[in-house]
Amino acid sequence: MPSKDCIFCKIANKEFNTEFVVETEDYVSFKDLSPQAPVHALVIPKQHFASLNEMKDAELMGKLLQGARETAEKLGVGDNYRVVINTGEKAGQSVFHMHVHVLGGRAMHWPPG
Ligand code: 5GP
Ligand code: ZN
Repeated sequence: MPSKDCIFCKIANKEFNTEFVVETEDYVSFKDLSPQAPVHALVIPKQHFASLNEMKDAELMGKLLQGARETAEKLGVGDNYRVVINTGEKAGQSVFHMHVHVLGGRAMHWPPG
């Protein structure tokens, strides 16, 4: 269900000239608009999935994790970073195009709020 109103589909389609940290044929990563840590980027599949729950392709899911690792490395936090996937509104998901958060550059707390 690619949505013409989906902001992340538009970013992946280069409609906003977003600077990508990493781009492959399957995904892109870019800096979060409202960073929650000194380094905060998002990895998104180019194909639209509303959430992790809609993804069935394990290979693509693995590629997104590789993308998270490479994004952390490129942004200089490859030794200490957190990967987060909010799934569902109550879990904090606000954009319904699946995305992987990559956070780093500061000490992280556990458990997350
Ligand atoms: P969620 O709350 O769904 O897990 O994460 C959505 C994230 O997308 C938030 O961290 C928010 O700051 C980020 N975001 C929302 N709209 C945009 C945008 O247009 N550009 C960028 N770079 N990030 C966005
Ligand atoms: Zn989308």
